[in-house]
Amino acid sequence: MRTTFLPYCLPSIGDDEIAEVVDTLKSGWLTTGPKVRQFEEEVAKYVDSPHAIAVNSCTAALHVALAALDIGPGDEVIVPTMTFCATANVVVHLGATPVIVDVDETGHITADAIERAITPRTKALLPVHYAGEACSMDEIFEVARRHGLRVVEDAAHAIGTTYKGRKVGASDQSDAVCFSFYATKNMTTGEGGMVTTHNQVLADRIRTLSLHGMSHNAWNRYTKTGSWQYEVSEAGFKYNLSEIQAALGIHQLRRLDGFLQRRREIAATYARELSGIPGLSLPREQADRNHIYHLYVVWVDGNQALLGRDEFIQKLKDLNIGTSVHFIPLHRHPLYRDRFGYCAEQFPVAERLFQGILSLPLYPSMSDADVADVVDAVHSTLTSGRLTAASTAERYWRAL
Ligand SMILES: *Cc1c(COP(=O)(O)O)cnc(C)c1O
Repeated sequence: MRTTFLPYCLPSIGDDEIAEVVDTLKSGWLTTGPKVRQFEEEVAKYVDSPHAIAVNSCTAALHVALAALDIGPGDEVIVPTMTFCATANVVVHLGATPVIVDVDETGHITADAIERAITPRTKALLPVHYAGEACSMDEIFEVARRHGLRVVEDAAHAIGTTYKGRKVGASDQSDAVCFSFYATKNMTTGEGGMVTTHNQVLADRIRTLSLHGMSHNAWNRYTKTGSWQYEVSEAGFKYNLSEIQAALGIHQLRRLDGFLQRRREIAATYARELSGIPGLSLPREQADRNHIYHLYVVWVDGNQALLGRDEFIQKLKDLNIGTSVHFIPLHRHPLYRDRFGYCAEQFPVAERLFQGILSLPLYPSMSDADVADVVDAVHSTLTSGRLTAASTAERYWRAL
């Protein structure tokens, strides 16, 4: 067994990132400036979108994108239940109503679920590319077109994800795509986010709204060529990205394809070494899209495995392997359950997923030995682990 704890996630920060941050700190310019602009241009190029606006989180990206689309009181926005709370919280911030729907067995929102949830008040959809695999966007865009709905993609897990050969962000059929550079994501700026869009007017509005609603940012005011004048036409947000964060992002982006390759390599090892364990289901890839394994989500069937999910997590922790659960479905949180009146019976698939899911450690800086430790720990827990009194009782209960 490992002697040190293997965290479920760690960022990969290299010497180039550190040097660029130090250079930025010495440059005299810390807030949004030329490095942020460079980072925006490079992300736009990477995802193949004409416009990118950097913000200080994906939550901010989702919020400002919906605000720029004039989503507000009286509007309904459809979101999947299997997501992080930020996806729906931003809808609440705008005074609109999140309409939460069930997902399919892969954790994704479907066109059918969306279609069933549409009412005359529906204004927008927020598909989430769960775990680093794209939703079935062709079907979703078709429903959106037919009903005249806006589409804002939550691509927090999906920078580098492709769907039918094109990157998430490359399609001009969605209004905006929101990426996260949070510490645990595929690439990081510590905290950070990006909105990409194919719509010039929307891009301008998002840019203005992301900095107080001001017509000029600090770079355009304080530099020699700038002017002190600006106008505020609407109450915007304070969501701009700093130069220090962009310094990290520029180098993380250059390393991203290498990160994703290592992620896929580790996932292939898990797929090979963990297949055939009774009661353990592994992610399955789909032919028309890649999976960049932002998360490696496995599913434990409490009726067939030696242990239930919660006990499995504890056993792995005892063996010094960290894991996490993505996600506690939205409808289970008191806010959405009590204020919006959702209950578990409305989400049979997400409920079944939630009983058994956990995310195994998977990140580029894991060594082959780390990966082998995870494989060994899963095997020793699920294939030869002796039944404890508690797990026997649990199995008996489940069998009833
Ligand atoms: C992480 C995450 C977010 C929020 O990203 P931040 O950059 O932390 O604001 C939104 N949606 C999903 C699905 C996420 O996993």
